[in-house]
Amino acid sequence: MSDTTVRPTRSGVVPWPEDVAARYVAKGYWEGRSLGSQLAETARRTPDAISLVDGDVRLTFRELLARADGAADRMRALRIRPDDRIVLQLPNRWEHVLVTVACLRLGAIPVWALPQHRHHELTGVVAHAEARAIVVPDRYRGFDHQAMAHEIVAAVPSAEHVLVAGADLRPGSVDLHALCAPAEHPDEVAAALDAAAPGGEAVATLLLSGGTTGLPKLIARTGNDLAYMMKRAAEVCGFGPDTRYLAVLPLGHGFPNTGPGVLGTLLVGGRVVIAASPAPEVAFAAIEREGVTATSAVPAIVQRWLEHRDQVPDADLSSLRLLQVGAARLPGAVAGQIGPKLGCTLQQVFGMGEGLLCLTRLDDPAEVVQHTQGRPISPDDEILVVDADGEPVPPGEPGVLLTRGPYTPRGYYRAPELNARAFVGDGWYCTGDVVRQTADGSLVVVGREKDVINRGGEKITAEEVETFAGKVDGVSQAAAVAMPDAQLGEAVCLFVVPATGRQVDLADVREVLLDAGLARFKLPERLVTIDAMPMTGVGKVDKKALRAHVSRLLDEEHAAR
Ligand code: AMP
Repeated sequence: MSDTTVRPTRSGVVPWPEDVAARYVAKGYWEGRSLGSQLAETARRTPDAISLVDGDVRLTFRELLARADGAADRMRALRIRPDDRIVLQLPNRWEHVLVTVACLRLGAIPVWALPQHRHHELTGVVAHAEARAIVVPDRYRGFDHQAMAHEIVAAVPSAEHVLVAGADLRPGSVDLHALCAPAEHPDEVAAALDAAAPGGEAVATLLLSGGTTGLPKLIARTGNDLAYMMKRAAEVCGFGPDTRYLAVLPLGHGFPNTGPGVLGTLLVGGRVVIAASPAPEVAFAAIEREGVTATSAVPAIVQRWLEHRDQVPDADLSSLRLLQVGAARLPGAVAGQIGPKLGCTLQQVFGMGEGLLCLTRLDDPAEVVQHTQGRPISPDDEILVVDADGEPVPPGEPGVLLTRGPYTPRGYYRAPELNARAFVGDGWYCTGDVVRQTADGSLVVVGREKDVINRGGEKITAEEVETFAGKVDGVSQAAAVAMPDAQLGEAVCLFVVPATGRQVDLADVREVLLDAGLARFKLPERLVTIDAMPMTGVGKVDKKALRAHVSRLLDEEHAAR
């Protein structure tokens, strides 16, 4: 628990080349100021406007800033310093936004984890980030997050504090609600935080990339690049002080936080409304009550909203102007129903924690909005679509997407080996997504080269599931692939070659994986036993054949029904 175990963040960050960085500064993209300072500036412009709503909690910008500054000051008293990493595992509640802003004001680095993460994921993140503190609810959906956080603090040398939102505080926990009380001398505290604010080149947050194998993939986003991305996205989305943005997706994700999301809305002086769940009853009630103008969802949620709308058409959604949909493929047929049924404009979003953000524009023709995943938001986003040899494909042909740009970092955090594979040529990030580019520059996501399952927007790395499944008693070999799922788009199917004379069933595998500390959303939903894995010519498991195999099984079952 000594400071010597914690290295500064910058020691693990791959910088943009100096000439490239200078270009982004010269173009005015990078403003050289921290996100915390920029948020404070907005708050001071319209102190009496409501900034954050969560049920009965309504905070003006003045109150948000006074509480965030109060929390930053008390974190300092806990020996949490600028550049210390703070892992947040909070559900969608006002505290998530508040602690995030507090970290940004202090110059500490929030690392957003998902409430569904369990020991395996959270320990990995806390250890890799060398986090100083973990912020959790006491309990959430029947799970004791506080106990888990204390176990992780005991196991990871850098970690010192467990900050807890809730009434059931154990010895050694810090009361988050007391921490988030307004600063007693707000002007003095604010002045001290302003004076000590880091520059724009400092890391503002570490985002988790969807899907991990061994080390979690963390993406260091600077104040410069993130503020530029959010402001540019806000501009494309027409966000301003009149915006009322509803956060329904888990705030552990970058999309609802930064695309432009919660932080982008606050940056332009808009209002953020928090929904505790994306269930249509909850989201629609919040839209009606708060006059919400914009929100973001994944296709699986949109489908539920459309079905609910058909059954119960009475909610007044007339304030809703924009629905962003992304993180997974949106079927064209679903896209076409959004305008007529929900009365708002659809915006397709193709983005990634690694940077690149593509959006359809509000005035794009219906064809573009319904059938493409948008265009990059910055004129300086660079796109290459390449074949297996890394050569650009002819225009309009599918290929793997490579990208660079003013908000796409040049490497993962502290991951030189991974970076050697994921960043190619002269700093191009290899997305692993297979796309084709239309004549107007829009991208259509047609597939994926990376071995990831996209379960309703949550990314699951096949290798991670396979590593855990391979340790289950009676399993000789295991391979995880995506299978089609009517609700989620994709779900996890596990192929297993059992050890001689053994039988393996799904329930056992799921139980072992859960006991091993894996998040529930990664568990296979189906298990198929086979005698031998199909192999490709180069000696790898033939995942294409496995995907075809499970699709065939599903078709047969469907036909038999
Ligand atoms: P994450 O870093 O978790 O945001 O995941 C980024 C990945 O999600 C991308 O590389 C894509 O594989 C996938 N993705 C994001 N948006 C879309 C979309 N609109 N359509 C299809 N896949 C998407």
